[in-house]
Amino acid sequence: MTSAPTRARRIRDLLAAGRTLSFEFFPPRTDEAERQLEKAIHELAPLRPSFVSVTYGAGGSTRDRTRDIVVEICRTQPFPAMAHLTCTGHTRDEITALLDDYAANGVCNILALAGDPPADGSDPGGDFTYAIELVELVRAHPGDFSVGVAAHPELHPRSRGDREADRRHLAEKLSLADFAITQFFYDVDDYLRMLDELAALGCEKPVLPGVMPPGAASLSGLKRMAAMNGSVIPADLLARLEAVADDQSALRDIGVEVATDLCRRLLDAGAPGLHLYALNRSESVLRIVDALGLAPADRT
Ligand code: FAD
Repeated sequence: MTSAPTRARRIRDLLAAGRTLSFEFFPPRTDEAERQLEKAIHELAPLRPSFVSVTYGAGGSTRDRTRDIVVEICRTQPFPAMAHLTCTGHTRDEITALLDDYAANGVCNILALAGDPPADGSDPGGDFTYAIELVELVRAHPGDFSVGVAAHPELHPRSRGDREADRRHLAEKLSLADFAITQFFYDVDDYLRMLDELAALGCEKPVLPGVMPPGAASLSGLKRMAAMNGSVIPADLLARLEAVADDQSALRDIGVEVATDLCRRLLDAGAPGLHLYALNRSESVLRIVDALGLAPADRT
């Protein structure tokens, strides 16, 4: 990566200035995957995203890798990188030390998440239960971070059966934050209904729709993520994808078509921006942004 001046830019200010375009990456585990991420960043940077974000392994499993990638992007690229941060299993001192480090290294955007508890049901320990407690801690930090939170248009998987409580908890959390980013979904009405429910609770903060191009990952990977997140893959889309499941190029073509259509309808409905799950690859994102006419040459 080349060197560029650090430009600290807070997402709350970017959102206030107009529609945003952002991409999400995850910390690679191998040297080859690291090269893949570098290639994706290199190929997506010319799209001039408003910001990018980097996920964080629950319980801190990618703490150093997430931190290093976020700091490096903020140092070398003209756009800011937001650090995802999960609180489950962490102490307040651990989180505060990480926030100190981010603030000292020009990172000014945090996505404050609970993270998932251990799959075996064991107690993760730590000082936090819900994401709102992390939002409060980040807000109290002198780093003046812009803070985002997660939203689940189809309800959080642990909220199923209690829609009213899910929306109340989300409205409370989002009221303390600057913006939210959603889990991926394929029905615009789920997103719009969530916005209406938040507005009825007095919360009108910007909620960026998270869009997962179906063919960006393998079909089995997409199904696994959807099951974990509680995202519904509509039956007709699933049937189309299953018909070409072994052909990654055909999968990607369908994914680009479906994601482009979804993005277009979200923008028409007034979404404050688009957050694309890039999965450390550039091709689907490049094609979607081009089809939407959001490439820099088409923007002013
Ligand atoms: P919370 O807001 O704490 O909500 C979790 C559940 O608790 C919900 O059912 C909610 O209704 C309920 N709840 C909240 N407050 C209360 C309360 N006071 N009393 C009772 N119930 C309450 N995970 C990772 O590990 N790393 C990542 O990098 C990551 N990035 C993500 C990015 C996005 C855009 C999204 C949408 C999710 C991401 N996740 C990530 C997944 C996320 O950590 C999980 O969905 C997690 O299970 C919940 O996180 P949350 O921040 O929504 O939690």
